Amino acid sequence: MNEQKKIDHYEIVNDLLLIKWDDDSEADVTLKVLRDNCPCANCAGEKDVFGNVYKGQETVKTDASYRLMGIEPVGYYGLRPFWGDNHSTGIFTAEILLTLSTADD
Ligand SMILES: [Zn+2]
Repeated sequence: MNEQKKIDHYEIVNDLLLIKWDDDSEADVTLKVLRDNCPCANCAGEKDVFGNVYKGQETVKTDASYRLMGIEPVGYYGLRPFWGDNHSTGIFTAEILLTLSTADD
């Protein structure tokens, strides 16, 4: 079991979210990938005990949906983006960010 990485530093460069972890490794995630993989119950759905996924109403995404208005740290392990269409319920844990990252490590 790996020790969970902590977010040391993050910044937005053009359409990329760059994350530096406390072990000096880095991750980068495009804003589009970030938005399309929003982990909130409405976007990702909620699973019942049988594994059926229930999603909220599909939101039609516009350019504004992918515009990042701000980002807020959640503890040491998560980031909460604020999108141009007022969507901000998704909290990306370090684990999710690592899965989405295009960086090698
Ligand atoms: Zn969402």
